[in-house]
Amino acid sequence: MAEEKNPFEMAQAQFDHVAEQMNLEPSVRNMLRWPMREFRFQIPVRMDDGSIEVFFGFRVQHNDARGPAKGGIRFAANETLDTVRALATWMTWKCAVADIPLGGGKGGVVVDPASLTTGEKERLCRGWIDAVWKVIGPRNDVPAPDVGTTPQMMGWMMDEYSKLKGEYTPGVITGKPVGSGGSLGRTAATGFGVVIHIREAMKHLKMPSAGKTASIQGFGNVAQYAAINFIEMLQGKVISVSSWDRTDRCAYTFTKEDGIDPYFLQSITDQYGTIDKEEAAAAGYKVEDGDAWLKKDVDVLIPAAREGVITEDNVEQISEQVAILAEGANGPTTLEADAVLKKRGVFLIPDFLCNSGGVTCSYFEQVQNDMNYYWSEEEVLSKLDQKMSKAFKAVLQMSLEKNLFMRDAAYWVAIASVERAMRLRGWL
Ligand code: NAD
Repeated sequence: MAEEKNPFEMAQAQFDHVAEQMNLEPSVRNMLRWPMREFRFQIPVRMDDGSIEVFFGFRVQHNDARGPAKGGIRFAANETLDTVRALATWMTWKCAVADIPLGGGKGGVVVDPASLTTGEKERLCRGWIDAVWKVIGPRNDVPAPDVGTTPQMMGWMMDEYSKLKGEYTPGVITGKPVGSGGSLGRTAATGFGVVIHIREAMKHLKMPSAGKTASIQGFGNVAQYAAINFIEMLQGKVISVSSWDRTDRCAYTFTKEDGIDPYFLQSITDQYGTIDKEEAAAAGYKVEDGDAWLKKDVDVLIPAAREGVITEDNVEQISEQVAILAEGANGPTTLEADAVLKKRGVFLIPDFLCNSGGVTCSYFEQVQNDMNYYWSEEEVLSKLDQKMSKAFKAVLQMSLEKNLFMRDAAYWVAIASVERAMRLRGWL
């Protein structure tokens, strides 16, 4: 089994690898290997039983040369400063590759949110803002939801910030509920973006999309909208999806050779993305082990659940038929597995390009907040399509020009863009 890696060391190693290829100046490397600013703070929270519990919180701003830092807040029991640093670094590259005028940030709290009551959660959210409100804001750093946080929590945070500032400031945070400054289209945005990238990859590979097949890991937010759009936008067929079963503490794959019905599966899936296996089986779905999704004879594989799932141990089990690997999840493929995919000629759409539809829609939310004027869902998705297609083309062109693997090409585009912004601002 591969040893679990420190995520920040991984982020630095990926950066170093491309910085070397680009022959980046040492001063630029030193600035980009580390976050510009890091905050670690205590959040004392009055619990329902009257006691005070102290939580540890983080906010890291990796680089804001291209615009205000942007990135989610995670509430997770295993949160560490290094995880937040890595995620903030990846946000810098994601915003740069999607060409939205934002930098990279990330935040977190060491807590299992399921252990808190609603009132305790609200006080923790407000406490997080009380600790960082002076260093965040629509013009310097804009948080969003991530693992363990929800639109409702963003609503409380926006409210706390507005109270401290003394003015309604919806643009301080994105991922807010629709009706409270949120954007239409945000729920579908990441999965929709994944499919725009697949569409563009198919055009490049001269592969007609109709009738092409896909297998997806996960059935949460990203996977559900990737499945719906793969079927409706590309006239493709999704053969299987998978999900984590909290009762059985293992994953299952749900397969239907003539194509899954994503709307039916949504109707038997809970808010955490767990599909009810009895109901699925009763409806004729084959319930297989959690790894089965990876071994299907399909044209497109979409890991859209979690990190580190395609490794040197299982990459050889991927079918010869797979032409495209679209990384909906963050960090699903290890560097060792990358090397095998590259040799086999699988066309990779790397994570921070493939799933950049989410942050791009968050940026649209900020724009709408600034204007205090809201777009229709069609308008949001059409703008998203344009942004995603353009980002894909820029990375593909770099990959073809310099004969680079798509992941390296995406890094190259992103790093060059941040370097250019730093030079234009006179930081270098
Ligand atoms: P989610 O919590 O809504 O869904 C996760 C899904 O993965 C669930 O169906 C869960 O059952 C399943 N899952 C978990 N462990 C599994 C396992 N071992 N095997 C099979 N299935 C498993 O999460 P999400 O928002 O869809 O995010 C999925 C991935 O996409 C994450 O890596 C996330 O960081 C990334 N991402 C999400 C967004 C977004 O806008 N939601 C944006 C960018 C990147």
